[in-house]
Amino acid sequence: MSIRTIVWFRGKDLRISDHAPLRDALATGEVIPLFVLDPHFFAPARARELPHRMQFLLDSLHELEAMLLDRGSRLIVVAGKSVEVVPRLAREWKADRVVAHRWVEPFARERDRRIREALGVKFELYEGETLMPPGALRTGVGKPYSVFSQFARAFRQKATIDRPLAAPRSFSPVPRDILACVIDIPTCDQLGIDRNPALLQGGEKAAKARLRRFLRDTAEAYAEHRDRMDLPGTSRLSADLKFGTLSVREVWTAVEDALNGTTAARSFLNELLWREFTHSTLWDRPELLDKPFRPAFEGFPWQYDEELWQAWVLGRTGYPIVDAASRQLIGEGFVHNRARMISASFLCKHLLIDYRRGEAHYMKYLTDGDWAQNNAGWQWSAGCGCDAQPYFRIFNPVTQGEKFDPEGNYVRRWVPELEKMPSRYIHNPWEAPETVLRDAGVVLGASYPRPVVEHRFARERFLAFASQHLKR
Ligand SMILES: Cc1cc2nc3c(=O)[nH]c(=O)nc-3n(C[C@H](O)[C@H](O)[C@H](O)COP(=O)(O)OP(=O)(O)OC[C@H]3O[C@@H](n4cnc5c(N)ncnc54)[C@H](O)[C@@H]3O)c2cc1C
Repeated sequence: MSIRTIVWFRGKDLRISDHAPLRDALATGEVIPLFVLDPHFFAPARARELPHRMQFLLDSLHELEAMLLDRGSRLIVVAGKSVEVVPRLAREWKADRVVAHRWVEPFARERDRRIREALGVKFELYEGETLMPPGALRTGVGKPYSVFSQFARAFRQKATIDRPLAAPRSFSPVPRDILACVIDIPTCDQLGIDRNPALLQGGEKAAKARLRRFLRDTAEAYAEHRDRMDLPGTSRLSADLKFGTLSVREVWTAVEDALNGTTAARSFLNELLWREFTHSTLWDRPELLDKPFRPAFEGFPWQYDEELWQAWVLGRTGYPIVDAASRQLIGEGFVHNRARMISASFLCKHLLIDYRRGEAHYMKYLTDGDWAQNNAGWQWSAGCGCDAQPYFRIFNPVTQGEKFDPEGNYVRRWVPELEKMPSRYIHNPWEAPETVLRDAGVVLGASYPRPVVEHRFARERFLAFASQHLKR
């Protein structure tokens, strides 16, 4: 007997390859591919608050629509709040079931609970955002892991990762009665977003091309180059994994096939396990989006100084590596992982600003902005997270720059006013002799700021604050 299934694409699975809900629905009868466009998020004022993610999402949606059209189906885009729209449409369209991929965030779980309650038919949530269902791994005493290396070891012992599913070749047409309420996917222009040409192209085709390029050009040297901010040493697949234009299983198996057993493969797959760890951690501890993992950090005496905050946001702290990170974020909606760590540590530990402010700012501009990974990254950097950097380890922005951007080319790209500084002083221009500054056309305090805080002073101050607070 043929059954009618709504396959609900929810913004984290914008692909047709390796899409288990879609494959299963096609095998059992009629398929209605649905995307719900919530007017709250797609209103111009709100969309402009998330310009980069919105651009990538719209590109990916347009491509998904084209791929479905090519195969005889179409994406049914409907406006409304999903908790209201999905149950109503399921009734009106006489669907037998609704299928989608599971999300881990607490607000998404609440949304799904409400939809399940309101739906008169089956609501099946598939795994697939991660390699293993979040919360599946437990310690010997049945607790969630809080140490990454133990989590990764357990994962390697227990996980079996199947081959990804091929993209379906053809679909049955969407029943005609359903087309009445369909709206067009908006463009950036219609939402008042200036397209940022420096962003990665969204959509499954561009994602697959990125994966191929990574395997061809970059993957082999991943272990040696992944920390180098001046080299294209990483995959740049984070937005694809966030929006599901590639499945994580596809990335995992492609890297295993290409590099099996090498140091590069181990190193790269380990990063995918960090991703697993962050999703699993948020699943088990939904309160982390508001609270530090380590309760001792609650009530930490963070300070707030608008001038310092603006200096960090605009990339005018006087620490070139920190400033490059801030400007890369706004310029191309991406920050190199090492630069994220340095920049986040600087905001929390040098400027004593609450990590949650930095976290929200990153969520606004990162194309790959993901609640679980971003929260984990910020809590790690502040020292209050799950398996975090200890609070007393404070990155020195100068030595970090010298080590991971040795010629200063990352800084030169994003802080062009230092373009002519010799490498010896590019990470510490305030120590350069007058003649060097003059030759490079740099006037400290005018063309480029002096440091907003002295490193040694900031370090001692944070240590004093933290040790006093944590003693309580
Ligand atoms: C303060 C801070 C905020 C962060 N916010 C995000 C975020 O919002 N979204 C996001 O995807 N990553 C985030 N990360 C993790 C990491 O910086 C990015 O995943 C990485 O820089 C993306 O580049 P890539 O795809 O070239 O990474 P690669 O080095 O090629 O890694 C491959 C994939 O592994 C995953 N990954 C890599 N490093 C980490 C990590 N430390 N934690 C979790 N997953 C990881 C990503 O999905 C990434 O695409 C954050 C890290 C920090 C320190």
